[in-house]
Amino acid sequence: MHQVLYIEDNPENRMLVRRVLMASDEAFQVHEADSARKGIDLARQISLDIILMDLSMPEMDGLSATRALRAIPQLRAVPIIALTANVMRGDKERSLAAGCDGYISKPIDIDRFPNEILFYIRSGHERRAKQHQPTDAD
Ligand code: MN
Repeated sequence: MHQVLYIEDNPENRMLVRRVLMASDEAFQVHEADSARKGIDLARQISLDIILMDLSMPEMDGLSATRALRAIPQLRAVPIIALTANVMRGDKERSLAAGCDGYISKPIDIDRFPNEILFYIRSGHERRAKQHQPTDAD
């Protein structure tokens, strides 16, 4: 079961992502948070394979939330993917600079979305496996 956390203030977007992932052949469990604060709390409690992050949220936005998550040692290797409807230039660069591993623009492509998520989950697993391999520096 792939553990997914989606941090997003818009309930319709949350419902769409939940439905698309639940309808796929892969086993996704989707946890949801409607604010950055709740998302950060949940991320501390659940062992996650990936975090999907809305960039535009009231109070704390997705970039600040990403920086906060990256400061938590046990979450450092969990892939964080920015999801945003903003087509503003620089959004992608800003999300990567904040610590995101990738960027998916909304509206999501429902046919491709599960495989995109799976790709990021697998790269996160590979990264963690590499981190656990002893190196000359150890
Ligand atoms: Mn939003």
